[in-house]
Amino acid sequence: MTQPLSPALRADLQRLVGEDGVVTGPEAHVYERGYRHGAGRALAVVRPSTVEATAAFVGYAARQGLRIVAQGANTGLVGASTPGPDGDQIVLSLESLRRIEALDAADRTATVQAGVRLSALNAAAAPAGLWLPIDLGADPSIGGMVATNTGGTRQLRYGGMRRRLLGLEAVLPDGTLLREMRGLRKDNVGIDVKQLFVGTGGSLGVITRAIVELAPVLRRTATALVAPASIAAIPAILRDIESRVGAMLTAFEGISCEALAATLRRHPSLANPFAPDPIPPYVLLIEFGATEADREVEELLVALLAELADSPVALITDARVGAPERIWAIRHAISDSLRHEGRVIAFDVSVTRSRLPAFRADVVGRLAEDFPFLRVCDFGHWGDGGLHLNLVWPDASGDVCGTEWRVRDLVYTVVEAHGGSFSAEHGVGPINLSVYRRYTPEPCQRLGSNLKTLLDPHARLGAVHFA
Ligand SMILES: Cc1cc2nc3c(=O)[nH]c(=O)nc-3n(C[C@H](O)[C@H](O)[C@H](O)COP(=O)(O)OP(=O)(O)OC[C@H]3O[C@@H](n4cnc5c(N)ncnc54)[C@H](O)[C@@H]3O)c2cc1C
Repeated sequence: MTQPLSPALRADLQRLVGEDGVVTGPEAHVYERGYRHGAGRALAVVRPSTVEATAAFVGYAARQGLRIVAQGANTGLVGASTPGPDGDQIVLSLESLRRIEALDAADRTATVQAGVRLSALNAAAAPAGLWLPIDLGADPSIGGMVATNTGGTRQLRYGGMRRRLLGLEAVLPDGTLLREMRGLRKDNVGIDVKQLFVGTGGSLGVITRAIVELAPVLRRTATALVAPASIAAIPAILRDIESRVGAMLTAFEGISCEALAATLRRHPSLANPFAPDPIPPYVLLIEFGATEADREVEELLVALLAELADSPVALITDARVGAPERIWAIRHAISDSLRHEGRVIAFDVSVTRSRLPAFRADVVGRLAEDFPFLRVCDFGHWGDGGLHLNLVWPDASGDVCGTEWRVRDLVYTVVEAHGGSFSAEHGVGPINLSVYRRYTPEPCQRLGSNLKTLLDPHARLGAVHFA
């Protein structure tokens, strides 16, 4: 819980962001705990409702030497949106900056304040037949999505947040408002400063507004759960489908048997899509989508899957085309379902797409040897080479933290050996800062650290310090 504020600080904060903008006591608790990691103590929580008040607060904090951690919807997974244990950081919640300022159908753009939720933007854009095509099992804020460069299940088709960003406004650590809000699709005039704020987790500035590129909504989709002949066959399946349907492939996800079984145990109403057969050892979620309402996507998907099954060397052994909402309900329920199976040691790693089978075989084999009590419940974005390698430890006991770190060590070593990334989507936070230090090349770290020092010399912004 936040500590009692000194009367002088409370008065200053209330003057800057209004009485309702300062949150203390039990109401502040939700801002201090992260979704998966991060449980600290804030000096205070402030929730300004205008950009001007946000900039005024950041400038005040700089003059007073106060530390800030920005927070959007608090769905981040590396503990970077919540304060540390020392009670010396102020949580700056952007949730009251929630105005959708403009929707432009001709330019296919939306101008939004940072606290607008993805679901709210998509609801507002739907009547114009548009959406922000980033799809995930959470409902983040647009500012948080920029700060973490959110990817999601349709990155294969639409790219992540970096690609969708056309304009940005941010408050720099000294309180200066930086505005690059022209919404240009083409603008090659040197360093693209707005990109500095993408994926840097609020460590270089506080995002207050953004212009994002929307896409026409998919009017027809067809979704299937597919059993590949083997995991080694998956890259060939992907290549084959991409070469035949191109951009119509909107998702290509993988789900292990263990992850699917855990999800169905947690949500019996979803039922085994392969019934009466058992769940196959590995399952692909394949989606075709078209913006034309009359496009025969389902027929195309069924025909293509039949060809893959009937080819001389069958690439798939089974396929079930089903209601998209039902199949996506399974996919989006995995992460939460695993939490009910035991302690989850979660990884968000990536390698090149073609290397995923070898990487997975390697890491699963080594885990089975050293940690036979862990259940590998992986799932993820095979189309982008991303794997949520979630390991369930049903009856965690003994030196849990020590064991967890040994597991992490093993996995990161294998990731490194395969030329991969220890954080494919979720970014860097207190939970994996030491891994960043270990595996990020020194010149990259030095450049990052120099940038941080330039913009935030006293390291007052963000949950982690790259300096
Ligand atoms: C069930 C579930 C599924 C998920 N699936 C995916 C997935 O498929 N792909 C993916 O990429 N991510 C995924 N995530 C992670 C998460 O949703 C994203 O990282 C998200 O976009 C973060 O947005 P947020 O508004 O919740 O940010 P927060 O969690 O509030 O903050 C995240 C980081 O951004 C910073 N930040 C937030 N707002 C601002 C701002 N206005 N200015 C500056 N910095 C700011 C914070 O300081 C912190 O460092 C998932 C999360 C959950 C819980």
